[in-house]
Amino acid sequence: MNVNDLISKLETVRSRPDVSLETDRRIKDALEYISEDLQYLDSNRGFEEHVEEYLKETQGGNVCDCLNPMCPPKHGNLPVQIRDVDDIDKALSDYRMQHGNPDWISSCRAEWKSRKKRVKNVLEESILAAKHDDISNLDEVIDDE
Ligand SMILES: [Zn+2]
Repeated sequence: MNVNDLISKLETVRSRPDVSLETDRRIKDALEYISEDLQYLDSNRGFEEHVEEYLKETQGGNVCDCLNPMCPPKHGNLPVQIRDVDDIDKALSDYRMQHGNPDWISSCRAEWKSRKKRVKNVLEESILAAKHDDISNLDEVIDDE
């Protein structure tokens, strides 16, 4: 199930009359907890912004193995291949063709995946919490920071 499906399912389950006020409030907390990540996942530029943020954090580090001194990631900038992407895998393989296979690609990709996973996990637990009117698992998922 993708993120949007999970959100609409949550809205349906949450609006049932047998969901207690306490559960509803906790679900609201859960949605706030993932709101920033949700915005990323929801936008076309989400991955782009994620990469940009990642490169900013690692600026100055050895982010690319290519020989080009003007290579954008070396300066904390987004590579042209990763702008306006529809297909993340294709964009990354285009990038790799010209820049070798820098480590940052796989760790940046892994962070993106775990971001997605975290959001899905919170949404799934929220659905279960609403379904069973039981927030114990939900508490665990959103208190892990
Ligand atoms: Zn490069």
